[in-house]
Amino acid sequence: MSSQVNPPAVILTGDRTTGPLHLGHYAGSLRNRVALQHRHQQYLLLADTQALTDNAGDPGKVARNVMEVALDYLAAGIDPDLSTICVQSALPALAELTMIYLNFVTLARLERNPTVRDEIRSRGFDRDIPAGFLCYPAAQAADITAFKATLVPVGDDQAPMIEQTNEIVRRINRQIGHDLLPEARALIPDVGRLPGVDGKAKMSKSQGNAIALSSSDAAIEDAVRRMYTDPDHLRVSDPGRVEGNVVFTYLDAFDDERAAVADLKAHYRRGGLGDQTVKRRLETVLKSLVGPIRERRAALARDPDFVRDVLRSGTARAQVLTEATKAELHAALGLFEL
Ligand code: ATP
Ligand code: MG
Repeated sequence: MSSQVNPPAVILTGDRTTGPLHLGHYAGSLRNRVALQHRHQQYLLLADTQALTDNAGDPGKVARNVMEVALDYLAAGIDPDLSTICVQSALPALAELTMIYLNFVTLARLERNPTVRDEIRSRGFDRDIPAGFLCYPAAQAADITAFKATLVPVGDDQAPMIEQTNEIVRRINRQIGHDLLPEARALIPDVGRLPGVDGKAKMSKSQGNAIALSSSDAAIEDAVRRMYTDPDHLRVSDPGRVEGNVVFTYLDAFDDERAAVADLKAHYRRGGLGDQTVKRRLETVLKSLVGPIRERRAALARDPDFVRDVLRSGTARAQVLTEATKAELHAALGLFEL
């Protein structure tokens, strides 16, 4: 995936600190970030203030998960010498840029954002929607542009956010008369959106359909056993459907032996291949992916001071950069100088 990106770019991505990361994060974004960090300038944002937009009643959860997500990053292969990990709430320039950007986007446009619409529906919000939640795309635009990022590796649910960011960027650049802020490109992998183990649209922390990156072998076995396959594939000898069959979707996402997966699919379609056999293979693949991550995570969790130091130094670097962008924008807009 990283070979698609030339020349070196500035990368910004992040995760809401609402719970431990799962296989959807890994397939959608984290795997790309681990590959990209060697050739690019990469910033990873622990998005705790964004997490507050629908968790204001439980700020403790949002705060606790800052360390959890940081542990997941490091365990999955993010190298703090190559990537900068920083904490959103400790970067006031991001909030200040958000306040400015909110004036360059309309309420109608925010309400039209398809991802926000889906999320509003799944959370059952009506007029009681927190204003911060409706407006979080403007905050994401602030996050991306504060780092002057040009590349954003994300799952496909995030494509509308990048589009909306670029609209805000164009409006601001038009206002100030030159291209101060760069537009960004989303880098979306082939597995743009990993479904949940229940076959529902998206594996998500808030839907209870996830396999965490820190799962035990027993939890993986249990999740794979319950996994949705082809409901019409009743006998082993029956031909089966691969499309929409979560077990095959996961093999596509995580099994590196492409030819073997293609053979399995052909056999399943013909009939004569049982769900149990395919599930056993997936179990092995997932255990060998998650096992080493879980072990590194457990070792890192015993050294919280190291993780805290990583966050402190990363956030300090990010503070310098984001303050500089804010100052440039203030000057370009001609805001009052004291
Ligand atoms: P929440 O339910 O709290 O919103 P989430 O599981 O949706 O959590 P986010 O923190 O919103 O996770 O997403 C962080 C990143 O991970 C985004 O780039 C998003 O596209 C990606 N991502 C999350 N879930 C998936 C998934 N199931 N498939 C692919 N990418 C995903
Ligand atoms: Mg989400």
